[in-house]
Amino acid sequence: MKEETKFGVAGCPPNFWKSSYKRDSVNNPLWLAGIGLDAYEVQFTHGIRLTRERALILRKNAESTGTALSIHAPYYVVLTSTKKEVVKNSIEMMLKCLEFASCLGTNKIILHPGTNQGNARDAMKRCLDNLKVIRKNTDNKKTLIYVETVGRRPSYLGSLEEIIEMCGELDFLRPCLDFAHIYAYESGALLEKGDFRKIFDRVGEKVPLGTEEMKELHCHFYPIEFGEKGEKRHKNYRDDGYGPRFEPFLEVIAEYGLTPTIICESKDAQDEDALRMKAFYRGLKDGKIQ
Ligand SMILES: [Zn+2]
Repeated sequence: MKEETKFGVAGCPPNFWKSSYKRDSVNNPLWLAGIGLDAYEVQFTHGIRLTRERALILRKNAESTGTALSIHAPYYVVLTSTKKEVVKNSIEMMLKCLEFASCLGTNKIILHPGTNQGNARDAMKRCLDNLKVIRKNTDNKKTLIYVETVGRRPSYLGSLEEIIEMCGELDFLRPCLDFAHIYAYESGALLEKGDFRKIFDRVGEKVPLGTEEMKELHCHFYPIEFGEKGEKRHKNYRDDGYGPRFEPFLEVIAEYGLTPTIICESKDAQDEDALRMKAFYRGLKDGKIQ
């Protein structure tokens, strides 16, 4: 099968809940396939609300439709923490996510590195040390941890440079490029194709990835509102004026011959905006857009 760029959603969009799929999130891949999307990031962001039995049904639905699954780890996993109890719970939760990754048949867990507790260097070291503990204590060595670029300054670990550095330290880490976060972090700096090229060039140069892996990066893309400290809230492309725009991003993806998974986290319109992006991308590929 030819590898293709995948477009999908984080969680179940409002349109899914309005659909005929019995209001059960394990059916999301069936619904997504029906509207033309092929990736689903399972949101454990507020905890794991899935049993193993239901995870297996979700897996079956994903496999039968060719939907790529990924898991977003809970927000309360804070591997940078200085508090023993928080670290203990965070490690346990990550081990549970790894078990669920096996059940779901995915090898991707997306993780926010955590707050930097006033000293990014020390926070990064704690985060990497705790990730090593997690790796040592899991049988699931197939699953990779995708550390995500964050949108908030200055109290969070996860600038693009920090993510790149972390991925160079441990061989089971990969970058999750959240372009909305990078845009908010850098106060709207992602405007032109050159801005996107720079990011891919930097990742390609600094993160030890094989050619295939470089092609199959994991990305988040949606518009965002930002302020002085970066991210304020997710928006959607129905709201005018919020960036980053997806056109230059997709043009660079096509230009570089990348085939990433692109997860849309637009506010209440993940599906609609993912389809918008996909339509534009298909137009590029078919040579309709110059
Ligand atoms: Zn995230």
